[in-house]
Amino acid sequence: MSENSRQGWIEHGEMPLETILPPSLLRDSTTTGLILSGLEASGVAFALFSPDDELSYGSTAFKLLFDVQPGARTFADIMRHCHLERVGPKMEAPIEDFLAMARLKRRSSPQRVFEIETSDERWLQADETLLPGGWLWHVFTDITLLKSHEQVLQRAHEAARHAADTDPLTGLFNRRAAMERLDAAMQHAFHNCTALSLALIDLDHFKSINDRYGHARGDDVLRHFAATGRQHLRGGDMLARVGGEEFLVLMPDTSLGEATAAMERLRRHLPREEPQPGLDCTYTMSAGVAEYCGNAADDLFERADRALYRAKHLGRDRIERAQS
Ligand code: GH3
Ligand code: MG
Ligand code: MG
Repeated sequence: MSENSRQGWIEHGEMPLETILPPSLLRDSTTTGLILSGLEASGVAFALFSPDDELSYGSTAFKLLFDVQPGARTFADIMRHCHLERVGPKMEAPIEDFLAMARLKRRSSPQRVFEIETSDERWLQADETLLPGGWLWHVFTDITLLKSHEQVLQRAHEAARHAADTDPLTGLFNRRAAMERLDAAMQHAFHNCTALSLALIDLDHFKSINDRYGHARGDDVLRHFAATGRQHLRGGDMLARVGGEEFLVLMPDTSLGEATAAMERLRRHLPREEPQPGLDCTYTMSAGVAEYCGNAADDLFERADRALYRAKHLGRDRIERAQS
């Protein structure tokens, strides 16, 4: 490549313009020069690479973005410099891996659009167009502002999703989220032939706690129970508040016996006879436990609910297993 073309001007003969532009659009070289000057003046970052990936032309904005050095001849030279000096695109992978990956992608389709995160925390959109003969035309647009709006929207979406799934009093999953997860857990258990158990928990004589100590204390009890559950259930179990003082525990990979034992442990950790630090009253729970056996969710619920009813009937502060 001649020094002239390295400085920016497309050499005649390297890529005849007629191969790219229809004759009706071809103007004289003055017009072509003016178009190029116009693009330069409007600050567009663009670059043209030859079929063997030499930089044939790079606008001033492009050279600034990629810190193109006077001696840089090829795409690889430019990228190696960016990697070494931590300028231009952020590169996590070792440079040779990055270049190998880039070689695979470059010229892989007539038109590619991708996003580049830069080392100075900006985002660029790269539009890559494959021209006849393997020439490659790039235009880079700064989309940092757009990207930050996208991230704000994404965070708002996640917050809305979290709010829709969460019980505000206890921070536990709510009924809606619990039902979604129950469905997914049932499908998983069905397809993988694994165990799945469910417990329905109801706090005992909760109305009299409210009546005796006031509604605020009742709320404290609900929060205390949620915290105790979080602390004593396994990481894979899911505790949700599905009603006023009613909770559900979903226990994947857990047999009926293991699930009953887990509920017993939880029951014993409650302040049943003596208040605990942070809570000025006692309370107890009753639970019904059932194991998934391939039937619908309603059936699982019904069996757990019947067991819970039996626990209440037998005197409360106890765990009962469902009969299958
Ligand atoms: P049992 O042992 O049979 O379950 O008796 P219980 O008193 O717990 O049952 P009941 O269904 O009669 O009463 C439930 C009470 O829970 C009534 C309701 O006022 C109270 N409750 C429901 N939601 C909340 C809440 O968010 N905060 C408070 N403090 N109380 C609530
Ligand atoms: Mg109840
Ligand atoms: Mg109750």
